[in-house]
Amino acid sequence: MRGYGGRILFIDAGTGKSRTEPVSEAMARSLLGGNGFAARLMLDHVPAQIDAYDPANAVVFAVGPITDTSVPGNSRACVAAKSPLTGLFFDSTFGGRWPATMKRTGFDALVITGKAREPVYVKVTEAGAECKPARALWGKSTRDAVHAIQAAEGGETDAMAIGPAGERLVRYASMGTYWKNREGFSGRGGIGAVLGSKNVKAVTVAGTRKTEVADPALLKSLLDTQREPLTTGTKALSTYGTPFLVKPINTLGALGAYNLRQEVFAEAVAISGEEMHAHYHDRDTTCLKCPVACGKQYEIRDGELNGLRAKMPEYETIFAFGSMLGNAHAASLTKANDLCDLLGLDTITMGVTLAFVAEAMERGWLSPAEVGVPFGWGNWQGMLRLIEMTAAREGFGDRLAEGAWRLAESVSPEATKAVYAVKRLELPAHSARALKGMSIGYATATRGGSHHDTRPTPQYAQGFDRKSPEGKPEFAVKSQHFTAVDDSLVVCRFTSERGFGLYVDEPYAKMVRAVTGWGMTVEELERVGERIINVERLFNVREGVRRKDDVLPWRVMHEPIPEGASAGMHCPPAELGLMLDRYYALRGWDADGVPTKQRLTALGL
Ligand code: SF4
Repeated sequence: MRGYGGRILFIDAGTGKSRTEPVSEAMARSLLGGNGFAARLMLDHVPAQIDAYDPANAVVFAVGPITDTSVPGNSRACVAAKSPLTGLFFDSTFGGRWPATMKRTGFDALVITGKAREPVYVKVTEAGAECKPARALWGKSTRDAVHAIQAAEGGETDAMAIGPAGERLVRYASMGTYWKNREGFSGRGGIGAVLGSKNVKAVTVAGTRKTEVADPALLKSLLDTQREPLTTGTKALSTYGTPFLVKPINTLGALGAYNLRQEVFAEAVAISGEEMHAHYHDRDTTCLKCPVACGKQYEIRDGELNGLRAKMPEYETIFAFGSMLGNAHAASLTKANDLCDLLGLDTITMGVTLAFVAEAMERGWLSPAEVGVPFGWGNWQGMLRLIEMTAAREGFGDRLAEGAWRLAESVSPEATKAVYAVKRLELPAHSARALKGMSIGYATATRGGSHHDTRPTPQYAQGFDRKSPEGKPEFAVKSQHFTAVDDSLVVCRFTSERGFGLYVDEPYAKMVRAVTGWGMTVEELERVGERIINVERLFNVREGVRRKDDVLPWRVMHEPIPEGASAGMHCPPAELGLMLDRYYALRGWDADGVPTKQRLTALGL
C-alpha cells in the first residue's frame, strides 16, 4: 500500500513485550489512519466500562497516509485513549517533528497497554519496541525529559513526554515534544495521565523509512493549485499566530470572560495578538517542513516577568488564563502557558477550572482558606501558584487536578451550573452561545467541549448565519465528517482548512488518490468521516452515553449573553432539543442518540 507503513505495533508496558500486526487495505481505505485507526483500535481492544487508569486502557498513537509527504502541515499525529476527564473516547493531535519520525518507523499505529512496574520510556524503532528504564526521568519537566532522552538516544530520535502532572494523574495532563524551538503538545483530555498511570514517562521514535506516494505528479499539481490560497489564508497566522483571533472575536461579543458571565472583555486589546506581538515577539517557529510557521517564541522585556523566554500562548490559552479570569496582565499568560507546558497540563481545562474557582469564591462556595493562596479575578500571581500546586497535587491543587466538573460536584450540586463544560470537558474559546453551530456542535461532539469536532472557523466567515439554529445540525454533521477525515489523513487543521477547504471535498479526495492510488471519490471520503464518527459514538454508547449527555452547560442554556454584538443569544433546552432531533435523524441514530443497525450496516460496521 502506498502512503502506509502497513504495520501496527502492540506494546505491553507491563511485560515489555511487543507484537506486530499488518494493516489490511480494507482497514486503511475505510478508516484512513490517525483518528480512524485510533477509534477502531480503541473500540476493539479496550474493554467496556473500565477505569481510565486501568492497565487495560490503551494509549494509541497513529499517523496517516499524508504524514511525512510533501503536503504542508503533514507532520501531525493523533493520540487517543479513554479519557480520565470524560470517561469516553478521546483523541488529540500534535505536530513538531515527532509525527514524521513515527511514520519513518514503518508503523502506522502504536497501541500501548499494561502498566510497567517501574518508570520506563517506550522506545520504538523500525525493529519494534523496547521499554527502557526511566526512573531518573521521573519528576522531570516535559522539556527536560525530552532533552535527556535525546542526549541518550541521539538527536534523530524524537520523544513525546509527560510532565509531573501526568505522573500524578492530574485528569487533564498533557504531553509534549520539542524540536528545535517548536513544541508539539497533545493538550486535551488527560491522555498524559493515562501514560502516567502506565508508568510510561515518554514514547520515543526513530526510523528512516520513506513514505511512497502513488502519483507524485498528481500530488504536485494539487499542491501547486493550493499554494496561493494557503499563503493568503494563513497570513494572519504566519504573522501573529492564533492570538490574532482575540480582537475580532471580542468584537463579535463571543469572547468568554469572567467564567462566561460576559462575552465581551473590556481589556481584550491588552492581551491581543497584535499587542503581544509588538511587545514580545522574538522569533517564528514551525513544525517540520511547514511554510506557515504559526508558532512564535516570546521574550518578556519588562515588568515582574522580565527575561522570560517562552512559547507564545495560543488563542485558547489567552481566553482561559486571560479573559475568563478577568486577567489583562499579558506577560502572565506567557508564564502560565510555559508552566503548563513544562509541568504537562492542558491550558484550557486549567484556566477554565480556575475561572470556576474565582466565581465559586465570590459566591462563597469556596473560602479563601480552602483555596490556600490569595486568588480571585485578575490575580495572576495566585493563578501561577495554583497551576504549580495542581501539577504537584499540593493542597487545593489536589482538588483542582480533578477538573472543573468534579470540583464543582464536591462543592455543591448547585455549583455545577457555573461550570463551562460538556461531558466534563471544559470548553475552549469559541462561544457555545454566540455561534449556533457550536451549540449543536459541542452538544454532539464525541469529546464534549472540543473545538476540533465541529469547527468554529466557517462560522466566523461573512455570509454564515451564526445566529439562527436553522441548518446547524446539517452543518455540524458535515463539519464533524471533515475533522474526522482531516485527523485521519493526518493534516494540520490550519494548513488544511486554509489551503484545501473547510469540508470534505475534491482537494481531499485528490490528495488521497495521489498518495494511495485508490480511486477515492468525495462521496467515499465523506462516508469515511461518517464511519469514524459512528465508531467513536459506539465506544461512547458502550460507556453509557445517550441523549441525556448531549447537553450544554447550564449557563449556555439559561443565561443570555448580557451585552455586546451577541447580546441575548443563548441556546435554550427546547431549541437544543429540536436541533438534536434533526441531528440524530441526519445521522440515522435513534431518538436516544444510539446508532441504528441499519445505518451501521450501511457503513460496513
Ligand atoms: S500551521 Fe502551525 S501548527 Fe500547523 S503545521 Fe504549520 S507550524 Fe505546525
